[in-house]
Amino acid sequence: MEQGNLFVISAPSGAGKTTLCRRLLEQISGISFSISYTTRNPRQGEFDGVDYHFVSRDRFEEMVSTNSFLEWARVYDNFYGTRKSEVLSRLELGEDVLLDIDVQGASQVRRLFPEAILIFLLPPSWSLLEDRLRGRGTEDSSRLKLRMANAKSELEAVHKYDFAVINDDLSRATEDLKSIVIAQRCRTPRTLARQGLVQDLKSS
Ligand code: ADP
Ligand code: 5GP
Repeated sequence: MEQGNLFVISAPSGAGKTTLCRRLLEQISGISFSISYTTRNPRQGEFDGVDYHFVSRDRFEEMVSTNSFLEWARVYDNFYGTRKSEVLSRLELGEDVLLDIDVQGASQVRRLFPEAILIFLLPPSWSLLEDRLRGRGTEDSSRLKLRMANAKSELEAVHKYDFAVINDDLSRATEDLKSIVIAQRCRTPRTLARQGLVQDLKSS
């Protein structure tokens, strides 16, 4: 059986990753989200085991020392990581997996899985990015400033990504993401493997 596809989405904070990932997962089947581990506190409306696995710093360090993470990184004041077992088991079953991780994590994934599909999400403009971050109401003014400054350096990584999607209109950006997933599934080796066409043609 062909392994599933590994999709990675990165973007500056506030660009709309969470919103778009949710919409993509609602609208397309055969793909699931890898819930990351983090040492940050839950925001209002976030739940353990749904948005993240919220863990203590000690637990996170233990997971690092037992090599449980596919990738991990420090982002702002917190640690974030993708659990290896969660991703590998699904890929082996032929299911597609979606990661929402930062640019450091994405470059670790690229080294381990050169065939991973990296997608960078761009805000339509800096001022809209700031408006969205402010509108989300999760950052105080000093954290908002820091996130805006980091956004500019994160953007330098865009050239390492396979696809760039602009999150202007939500529906259109969701369609772009769906098209990328569908195009990947239509790659020749995957289509042939799925249909068993090569064997059929050889035996006829
Ligand atoms: P991220 O996960 O990248 O930090 P979010 O998905 O939390 O970003 O989005 C940040 C804010 O912007 C949220 O309040 C969300 O509702 C809003 N938002 C996301 N995409 C759009 C869009 N295309 N148009 C308008 N608002 C958006
Ligand atoms: P937030 O705290 O706003 O949910 O996420 C902050 C940043 O951490 C975002 O850029 C998000 O993509 C990134 N992130 C979330 N989970 C992971 C993870 O497992 N690994 C890495 N490297 N980054 C992550």
